[in-house]
Amino acid sequence: MQDTNCIFCKIVLGQIPAIKVFESDTALAFLDVGPLAEGHVLIVPKEHYSDIRKITPEELALVMTPIPKLAAAIMRATGAQGLNFLQNTGAVAGQSVFHLHFHLIPRNDSDGLGYRWNAGKYAEGRAEELRTKIMAELA
Ligand code: AMP
Ligand code: ZN
Repeated sequence: MQDTNCIFCKIVLGQIPAIKVFESDTALAFLDVGPLAEGHVLIVPKEHYSDIRKITPEELALVMTPIPKLAAAIMRATGAQGLNFLQNTGAVAGQSVFHLHFHLIPRNDSDGLGYRWNAGKYAEGRAEELRTKIMAELA
């Protein structure tokens, strides 16, 4: 099912243009209109899911199937040395389009994007507390 107000649903339906690079029955990949680097691609399920929590594992597997080949093709086509594969869930995590999508962002030494990964540290016992909570939610 598509959401008539959703920009990525409109792309899937061909109602607004996109530079498509891959299409299957389940997924569509196209160039990001505001690339962090040349060759920045988004891959989306054709069905509308707001974020990573909503899709079924089976459909997610189908959306992920082309990723190894797509990542390699993007890297070869752009001459990238690396690639970030990202999914943002929630505005606080940087999500601005609420149709599930995955970013493939080619990376190079000289791209100036940097990478901020400010690793923290758990206080005594906190990691175990979190494990208990997460496992209770999974059960
Ligand atoms: P996110 O911040 O993870 O929700 O990413 C949304 C991405 O969608 C941004 O990188 C936008 O540049 C991109 N975007 C928004 N509208 C379009 C569009 N019409 N075609 C292609 N990419 C788009
Ligand atoms: Zn949508």
